[in-house]
Amino acid sequence: MEKKKHIHIISHTHWDREWYLPYEKHHVLLVKLVDQLLETLDRDEHFRSFHLDGQTIILDDYLQVRPEMREKLQKYIKDGRIQIGPWYILQDEFLTSSEANIRNLQYGMKDALQWGGISKVGYFPDSFGNMGQAPQILKQAGIEAAVFGRGVKPTGFNNMVSDVDMYESPYSEMFWRSPDGSAVLGVLFANWYCNGIEIPADKEEAAVYWEQKIAALEKYASTNHYLMMNGCDHQPIQTNLSKAIQTAEQLYPDIQFVHSNFNDYLAELMTTLPKDLKYIDGELRSQQTDGWGTLVNTASARIYLKQMNQRGQVLLEKVAEPLATFAYMTGEEYPHHLFTYAWKTLMQNHPHDSICGCSVDEVHREMETRFEKSKHVAEMIVDEKLTQISDKIDTTGFAPFGAEAVPFTVFNTTGWERTGVVSVTVDVKSEYFSEGVNKEALKSFPLNDRELVDQDGNVIPFTMEDLGIAFDYDLPNDRFRQPYMARRVQLSFEAHAVPALGYKTYAFVKKETTLPETESLIVNDREAENEFLHVKIEENGSLTVTDKTMNRIFTDLLIYEDSGDIGNEYMYKQPDGEEPLTTKNSKAKVHILKDSPFEAALEIIHEWELPRGANELLAQEQKEVIPFMNRKAQRVEETVPFKIKTVLTIEKNSKGITVSTTFNNQAKDHRLRALFPTNVETSVHYADSIFEIAKRNHVPADEWTNPSNCQHQQAFVSVCNQSEGLTIANLGLNEYEVLQDGRNTIALTLLRAVGELGDWGYFPTPEAQCLGEHTVTFRIYPHTGDCIETNAYQDAYQFQIPWVAKQTGIHEGTLPTIHSFIEWNAEHLSLSSVKIAEGSGDIMVRWFNAANQEDQLTIHSGGREQCYRSNVIEENVEMLPLNENGNWQVPVQPYEIITVGLERKEYHQ
Ligand SMILES: [Zn+2]
Repeated sequence: MEKKKHIHIISHTHWDREWYLPYEKHHVLLVKLVDQLLETLDRDEHFRSFHLDGQTIILDDYLQVRPEMREKLQKYIKDGRIQIGPWYILQDEFLTSSEANIRNLQYGMKDALQWGGISKVGYFPDSFGNMGQAPQILKQAGIEAAVFGRGVKPTGFNNMVSDVDMYESPYSEMFWRSPDGSAVLGVLFANWYCNGIEIPADKEEAAVYWEQKIAALEKYASTNHYLMMNGCDHQPIQTNLSKAIQTAEQLYPDIQFVHSNFNDYLAELMTTLPKDLKYIDGELRSQQTDGWGTLVNTASARIYLKQMNQRGQVLLEKVAEPLATFAYMTGEEYPHHLFTYAWKTLMQNHPHDSICGCSVDEVHREMETRFEKSKHVAEMIVDEKLTQISDKIDTTGFAPFGAEAVPFTVFNTTGWERTGVVSVTVDVKSEYFSEGVNKEALKSFPLNDRELVDQDGNVIPFTMEDLGIAFDYDLPNDRFRQPYMARRVQLSFEAHAVPALGYKTYAFVKKETTLPETESLIVNDREAENEFLHVKIEENGSLTVTDKTMNRIFTDLLIYEDSGDIGNEYMYKQPDGEEPLTTKNSKAKVHILKDSPFEAALEIIHEWELPRGANELLAQEQKEVIPFMNRKAQRVEETVPFKIKTVLTIEKNSKGITVSTTFNNQAKDHRLRALFPTNVETSVHYADSIFEIAKRNHVPADEWTNPSNCQHQQAFVSVCNQSEGLTIANLGLNEYEVLQDGRNTIALTLLRAVGELGDWGYFPTPEAQCLGEHTVTFRIYPHTGDCIETNAYQDAYQFQIPWVAKQTGIHEGTLPTIHSFIEWNAEHLSLSSVKIAEGSGDIMVRWFNAANQEDQLTIHSGGREQCYRSNVIEENVEMLPLNENGNWQVPVQPYEIITVGLERKEYHQ
């Protein structure tokens, strides 16, 4: 007889690899847990399956200590009794880049398939909110469902599907839809992922347990298939589960109990879905809540980690991978093995408790080492690829300048042509130890008879810093190391119109001409300007910026604000009744740092004082585990010096102002922000997120009671309307707020200093006070109109990516002195990634459409024969026809993530 109710029990453990304990302490427990799992599977054939938390890295962690268990693990995975994947790690979706989210899925799926099985569910049990493009990413990877624990608030069962609130669903089941229209079945862990924890085997206990549990399940479920998650954070295996299930079967003969897994549960669930399931759209950020439990301020916990992560991600995905692809196109090998290692090492820092900065100090110390390790591998790849490409460039055009000409190449790895100031280190003369070094001759080597020329021989204005004599060495592939001494200089100049995904060649040569008198961007010691902008530094150090193209003045930009923070690594809490301090009434010193024809830099000094920290009540409240919302601590009167050095840089042909702020933090329990009043009339703003520029309301929902409404961002936040806007871009500063102060002020968090982890107990974290010196970098970019329609986001995306350059010699070569390796164009697409697919050897290029309108992607064939539409897991979806102009054209839907494969055969046989 078919039973009416089905309870699917999925055994699992949610494994935070590091959190309230350092990695190795959780690791020891993990080894115990997996031992216990394997024993249970050996002993009890009725213990049908176990869900290994959706992250394949746990297998590596276990085998590190128990390599002899590989075969046994493999067998149980192949038999479906251990369910693994699809992720490599359980990431924080908002604090890792678009590409990092994709690579996490790519590497996780690859590992899972190699092991012999994959749990096909977008598994986000503990994510602190969910990215809006997740359904599209999952769909492209062939995954039709997602489960998550946060972001949506069910209203409780009332037999009615409410259409009132965007992010509400009356059921735990719903359709979750990306802005492009892709939807997956979404299941909210309405009673959390512990709702089936520790099921009693004893009949009396079980009767009480099940009565309560079944009522809770029925409250939210839309079908008679109920999900019981048998496990919790670091939960040991319930070794008597099959006995507990027998007890349940005896108590409820009309209910079918299944020891299940996600693949089976979802397949059954999908056949019984009611017609009135609701669609929920885009980002799931718990906006329909009181705002105290969103964990959003992890975006500003330990900002130094976010900065390291931004640099590590960009170096891998936006510099090393494109350069390795270009080199591959010239016949060089693509180091898949090194990229896998560097990415996996970086992604070990991406679990939600790691990158969120909400663990104990030991965890975050180890993260710094991992960031370094990943970066060092990427730097080795970058250097090798720069050399391989530069060696193939025909630089003989510089030969007429004589033997002392020093050619070098400037690379633009961004998706758009680029103009900007570049600093390049050049050795004007080198002497190898093996051939004898004359240090005095190097020291007196003449530098002032030189000039800078581009590939056409045009003389380029530059500034030079003499770095003196420097020791360095080559590490040849076929010989012992070659140390040398060099006379080294650093040249700065404006690289103009360097092709997208390409390079331009310059040379430092003997002077033949005299440059006309130099221009300057400095107006006076408090003002600078270029064709597009005028900036004035006011008495208090704030900026008055005039956008000359629209004749619009922005005032009071860059006032610093500091408030107390008696919260924890997860959440910000300002002391009751406190007024934030600001630099509004301060006096700032200003002086000129740089004044060249292509660049001006001004330094602003604020000598500020901040309260030393919170009073003793905070320590007491922390020890007594008083919830942070209920704390009464205040900041002390006593102050410590807080000197802020702000450097503004304005380039000749740039529409933005780059700001670099340095301070030595000796104050505790506080938050520092920079304020940018926009005075732009609008009720919504845009925040860069994962493959989307998310539109968000300034004002939260009625339920929201937290006075703070901070949000996540990636590269930028923009307040704009159809005629004007202000975009604030950043490097690794993931938190902003748009203030309801009548001026639509963007507040950018620069530092958050707290002393405890928070969550379920008292875990002191003195290093989360972030004492010491910090430098934060951001960019002020005024513009006309909407940030998407006017492509204002392009400046913010290019700002993320460093220029790279390589000195070379005068030699013949197959590559021209100026070149683009992959030429493309479209209206509103942003390039996300250029790499080689490991399986096929094809070039994979990915973009996303930020706009709500169809776009046309044109890719120049460059003599290539085959091109196909791919997906996020690099499969060939459909071949694309070549048009009569020798181009491929691909229609791209609004908000679509588009990956294209260019066939390999031209480069490698
Ligand atoms: Zn977790």
